[in-house]
Amino acid sequence: MTEMKDILTGLDRYEQFLEKLEKEIKIMSDYRIAVIYTDIRHFKYINDTYGYKRGDMLLREFVGKVTRGNTHMLCAARVYSDNIVMAARLENGVSNNAFREFICRENEKMESSFREKYASAALKFCTGISIISKDDRRLDSATAVSNANLARKLAKEMDNDCCVLFDNKMLEGIRREVEITSSLTGAIESGELKIFYQPKVETDTLQLIGAEALIRWQKPDGNFIYPDEFIPLIERSGQIVELDYFVYREVFRFIAGRIRDKKPVVPISVNVSRAHLHKMEILTYVESLFETYQIPSELIEFELTESIYIENTEQALKLVEGLHNMGTKVSMDDFGSGYSSLNLLSKLPIDIIKLDKVFLKDDEIGNKLRENDKIIISCVIEMARKLRITSLCEGVETPEQSDYLSQIGCEIQQGYYFSQPIPQEQFEKLLEENVCEEKVTVS
Ligand code: C2E
Ligand code: CA
Ligand code: CA
Repeated sequence: MTEMKDILTGLDRYEQFLEKLEKEIKIMSDYRIAVIYTDIRHFKYINDTYGYKRGDMLLREFVGKVTRGNTHMLCAARVYSDNIVMAARLENGVSNNAFREFICRENEKMESSFREKYASAALKFCTGISIISKDDRRLDSATAVSNANLARKLAKEMDNDCCVLFDNKMLEGIRREVEITSSLTGAIESGELKIFYQPKVETDTLQLIGAEALIRWQKPDGNFIYPDEFIPLIERSGQIVELDYFVYREVFRFIAGRIRDKKPVVPISVNVSRAHLHKMEILTYVESLFETYQIPSELIEFELTESIYIENTEQALKLVEGLHNMGTKVSMDDFGSGYSSLNLLSKLPIDIIKLDKVFLKDDEIGNKLRENDKIIISCVIEMARKLRITSLCEGVETPEQSDYLSQIGCEIQQGYYFSQPIPQEQFEKLLEENVCEEKVTVS
């Protein structure tokens, strides 16, 4: 006969838990059942730092705290590692959200009690809850657990919330995620992904002096999927590296082709996902592109979003240095979009600061710039000038905004007022019409 209990925690084995839960769902009467799935962020750190024995002790303690004397508990099991699932009776007077808040508080208490013992580990208990009501009695136990697990994964991604309630809409999100991540490689091969170029304009001369490469995914039915939707998903799946390399390749090929045909070119900037910071293989990849395409390094710029510099300053610095060694420029993208990275500006050797479009948001009544934003933009631009960093404002949509930027000395502008991101053919026409010879930066 197989062992029915988990040796480490004394809880049911997972298979047995599923059977028990199945029965509980069938006999459920005037209450609901909450399936509570928890795991511990940074648990691996405890194992690595304090040893497996301490890790095991922590798990046993955690399980003891949540199960001992808990009269609402119906059954509990360790699914694997530090993943614990429990089913508890939920009285009808308690709302789903009140229960979620209760678990959240319990998790926080648990965290602070463990923090005393494992000071250096930022342990976080992440919980997903799925609630089964009488109407769901046909639900099988494995699906209920998988729903709670899905909510748990979302809880793990959040910084400010440790507990998430399952909602059927999450399944639609997952379906979309699977659809997108599973079709990305094929879409690249079949040409559904294209590079669009958004012009950058020099404030003083209103000349086209560069462009940003932005990815577009056009489905065979003609509909576009925009980066804001698919980039977060493929960042999670790791495929963003493949996508970024595709963009870099296409941009290098585009520039090399124009140089070969003796046509005007301008520097093109490409975006760098935070995923590159883990392995830094991007440097070798970019180097190989320079070798293959033999284009001048000043024709390529890299945009790293502000939060990358803040989250991982040391790695970001290495990356900037590596890119500088190849002769390319590096910008801080989305400056001011949420973090405060003013102090980093003086420490990091960046070449261009791209002020986020939030600064150019209209006020509530008209289309004028908000006074406070005006003050901030002008100070940032002044500071950039003193630090010898080129200033660029993105999201410029109106002539008033553009005039104001011109008044305060912002050097480059980008936004719908000048042009939306446009397909390559259209951008090439623009290059032929607008780039005067002295602006062409082929060395
Ligand atoms: P981002 O790098 O900040 O790019 C600027 C975004 O602002 C673009 O959205 C652009 O279309 C939009 N935009 C430009 N001018 C205006 C304007 O005047 N008003 C407004 N409201 N919006 C404007 P898009 O192309 O949808 O890209 C969204 C984000 O997706 C980008 O933000 C970037 O973070 C990411 N992204 C796009 N392409 C790539 C890529 O190839 N690789 C990586 N890693 N990320 C990319
Ligand atoms: Ca960008
Ligand atoms: Ca940006």
